[in-house]
Amino acid sequence: MTLQSRLRDVESRLMDACRRSGRAREEIQVIAVTKYVSTAAAEAVVRGGIGHIGENRWPDAKEKWETLQGQAVFHYIGSLQTNKVKDVVGKFDYVHSLDRLSLAEAIQHRASLLDVTLQCFVQVNVSGEQTKHGLEPDQAAAFIRELRAFDRIKPIGLMTMAPYESKPEDTRPIFRSLRQLRDDLNRTTEWDEPLWALSMGMSNDFEIAVEEGATHVRLGTVLVGKEDTEGE
Ligand SMILES: *Cc1c(COP(=O)(O)O)cnc(C)c1O
Repeated sequence: MTLQSRLRDVESRLMDACRRSGRAREEIQVIAVTKYVSTAAAEAVVRGGIGHIGENRWPDAKEKWETLQGQAVFHYIGSLQTNKVKDVVGKFDYVHSLDRLSLAEAIQHRASLLDVTLQCFVQVNVSGEQTKHGLEPDQAAAFIRELRAFDRIKPIGLMTMAPYESKPEDTRPIFRSLRQLRDDLNRTTEWDEPLWALSMGMSNDFEIAVEEGATHVRLGTVLVGKEDTEGE
């Protein structure tokens, strides 16, 4: 499958999911996850009209960022160690994996030095899988309240990863729970600005996530392919 046909295919599947759920296509930002592919492939994605790039490790992202900075918005979607924060802040516009205060402190420190602000998703482990990062859902409210002390961090919403399911439909309760958590947080707490964003949905399950209210879908394999994974 060529990139053009993958882009078209994803677009029509997104439109169908929007139609099924009465949503507008503009409510959903596609993030092309380029971690599996070369810089040239990432450039082709951006030329193809997807202006948002997601990466989960700085060594894999570096060359792409150097090549595409200013042409694409960069999202850091992987788990982030505090000693890697210096690589990310100032380059990435969004972090999707904020899940602990030590990380918030490191981001705040670096962002103040560089005089920038970082938009962040608070990662929540809805599925309860041991292998997944993120806060327990019932820890989210207290954590986000603590983020008020960090003026360089702007929490915009929540992120989660669903377990891989052979029947994508089985992910629906996870995505629905994340949306309900966001709505509960907004109802029960006075934030400076309501949390609006939901980063959820990957290649296997993005249509379900869109039906359940995703505002950002993170698409690797289904959109950009997986050319560089031989030997991994
Ligand atoms: C790799 C990755 C994705 C994309 O995965 P695909 O299944 O290839 O779409 C999305 N989100 C995160 C956090 C990832 O690490």
